[in-house]
Amino acid sequence: ERKAALAASTGPGRTSDGFMVPLLANVGGPADVPAALENGAEGVGLFRTEFLFLDDSAKAPGEEKQVEAYRKVLEAFPGGRVVVRVLDAGADKPLDFLTPGDEPNPALGVRGLRTLLEHPEVLRTQLRALARAAEGLTVRLEVMAPMVADGVDARAFAAACREVGLDAKYGAMVEIPSAALRAAAILREVEFLSLGTNDLAQYAFAADRQVGSLARLQDPWQPALLDLIAASADAAKAVGKSCGVCGEAASDPLLACVLTGLGVTSLSMGAAAIPYVRSALAGATLAQCQRAAEAARAADTAGEARAAAERVLTGR
Ligand code: PEP
Ligand code: MG
Repeated sequence: ERKAALAASTGPGRTSDGFMVPLLANVGGPADVPAALENGAEGVGLFRTEFLFLDDSAKAPGEEKQVEAYRKVLEAFPGGRVVVRVLDAGADKPLDFLTPGDEPNPALGVRGLRTLLEHPEVLRTQLRALARAAEGLTVRLEVMAPMVADGVDARAFAAACREVGLDAKYGAMVEIPSAALRAAAILREVEFLSLGTNDLAQYAFAADRQVGSLARLQDPWQPALLDLIAASADAAKAVGKSCGVCGEAASDPLLACVLTGLGVTSLSMGAAAIPYVRSALAGATLAQCQRAAEAARAADTAGEARAAAERVLTGR
C-alpha cells in the first residue's frame, strides 16, 4: 500500500491545497543525475563540486575539465533550476593544496568561502567554468557560497560573481548561526539563501558533525535549530527572496512539512528521499504545516518537537 502511494506520488512538490514547494536533488557530480531524474527531482538544490577536486591533491582541476563536468549536470535539467555550490574545502572536506594543515580547530578555521577568498584564482576559474558550461542551455543556473558568516562575506562573493560576468543568480548558504541571526544583511548582497542544516546544527550546538556520540545535538528537530531556520526564512520573505533547505533536515518527510510551515521555499535532498517527502507534503495543507511548525518551535526538546508536529500532521 505504501509502495503504491509512493509510486502514485509524481509531479512537482505541493501541499494538498496546492502550495508549491519545489523538490530538488542534492548531487555530487554527473553520476548522481540518473537517480535525481528517476525520482522526479525538479532540479538540483545542491551540487557539491568538491568531487572534481579530489582527483589531484596537488592542484585545482583546469577550467576545461570543470566545464565538461558541470555541463553534464546542467544539461540534464532543461528549463529547471540547478544550484551549484562553489568549492567547500576544509574541515570535514580537506584539500591538500588549499587547506592549512596546522589549524588547531579546522572546523573553525579557513574553510568554505574563507578558503576561496584566500585563493581568488580558484574561485574565478570555477565561476568562469560555470558560466561557460551554462552557455546555450535553458537551465536556470544559480551559484552559492558555503560558510558565509555575514554581509561582508556575502558582498565579497557577489563581487566575484559580477567580476566574471556570470549570468546566474548568486546566493549564500546559511550554515553559521551569525548568518541566520543577521540574514537581512546577507540578503542585501545576494539574491537567495540556502540553509545547510548539517553545519548550522554543528555550529549552533558546538557539536562536531563527525562525532557520532553527539547525535542528540545534531538532531535537526532541535528547537534552537528550528528558530535559526525561521529567522532566515522570515528575513528572506520580508524582501521577497527565496530561502531553501539543502541539509539532511529536508529529507525527513515530517520535518519537510515543518520546514514548509516555517516559510522555507524549496527542499533539496538525496534523490531517494524525494518520493517520501512529496507524499508527506501532498497529505498536509499549508495551514497544517504552519501549525506543525508552531507546535514544534513551542517544544523544549527535539523529541517533543517531533511528537508535537506529528500530532498536528497525522492526528496521532
Ligand atoms: C550542510 O552543511 O548542511 C550542507 C548542505 O553542506 P555539507 O553537508 O556539504 O557541508
Ligand atoms: Mg555544509
